[in-house]
Amino acid sequence: MTHKKIPLAGVIGSPISHSRSPRLHEHWLRRYGIQGHYIPMDIARDDLRQALEVLPKLGFVGINVTIPHKEEVIGLADLVTDRAALIGAANTLIFRKDGKIHADNTDGYGFVENLRQGAPAWNPRSGAAVVFGAGGAARAVIASLIEVGVPEIRLTNRTRARADALRTEFGSKIKVIEWVQAGNILDDAITVVNTTSLGMMGQPEFRVPLDGLNRAAVVSDLVYTPLKTHFLQEAENAGCRTVDGLGMLLHQAAPAFERWFGHRPDVDEATRQVVLGS
Ligand code: NAP
Repeated sequence: MTHKKIPLAGVIGSPISHSRSPRLHEHWLRRYGIQGHYIPMDIARDDLRQALEVLPKLGFVGINVTIPHKEEVIGLADLVTDRAALIGAANTLIFRKDGKIHADNTDGYGFVENLRQGAPAWNPRSGAAVVFGAGGAARAVIASLIEVGVPEIRLTNRTRARADALRTEFGSKIKVIEWVQAGNILDDAITVVNTTSLGMMGQPEFRVPLDGLNRAAVVSDLVYTPLKTHFLQEAENAGCRTVDGLGMLLHQAAPAFERWFGHRPDVDEATRQVVLGS
């Protein structure tokens, strides 16, 4: 007699106890009455390959991937989406029935959907974007901004070489500007985003003079602890629409949940509250 296996998903990383993804996916599973589980797993670098071999056999339909495995899983997957290849990292794996591992990156999608939801009038084609920071998250943000047709991206990073490397990879839409000039590149920008880890709880604030900020700009921060960073507060004081980083986390998860469990989940206020723990 055959029986239907309960689908399992989860998130791998190290450390992993801080991850909010289990709370999010478990909420959606309950909300839509889907039988399934989502499990956080602390996997060391040395065990990554073996974990990817074993998890599908245990009933996993896919997993999220976080630090430090996001880059390495690209080399271990059988199929890699164009956007994951461009970013050089994956945050979502799908374990296909034919045994193949499919790697995708939905971080940039989550970033753009968050802006669309938080600022419905946002038109990325109508002006330049300013991106602060050139780390892993910036790669996903830049790829998605190019995909939605931003005409120019002014990129600035404390370590200039990292920004220059992104210019080489992503092309001439990117103009690299010295970090000390960060406050002088805002005029007429329509999209402004902090992708540095500055402003995160336990880190120094992200401080940049916002005098030149266009009031029509949509200002976003990838940091979501705290939800309202000093940077977002200053942008709000300058009269701009602001979008916090939590929505990016929620939106990047939605396509993965759909692929694994067959239902597109809603990203709404109830979802936010569950993840915030209230
Ligand atoms: P990362 O690869 O380590 O990059 C960190 C970035 O922050 C680099 O640009 C780094 O500049 C800059 N930075 C760090 N300390 C700095 C300082 N004291 N002064 C100036 N710049 C500094 O990290 P990541 O993965 O890109 O993540 C960046 C942030 O985005 C984190 O806060 C993360 O939690 C958040 N994030 C949020 C989401 C979401 O869903 N909302 C998704 C992904 C990431 P250098 O190159 O000079 O070191």
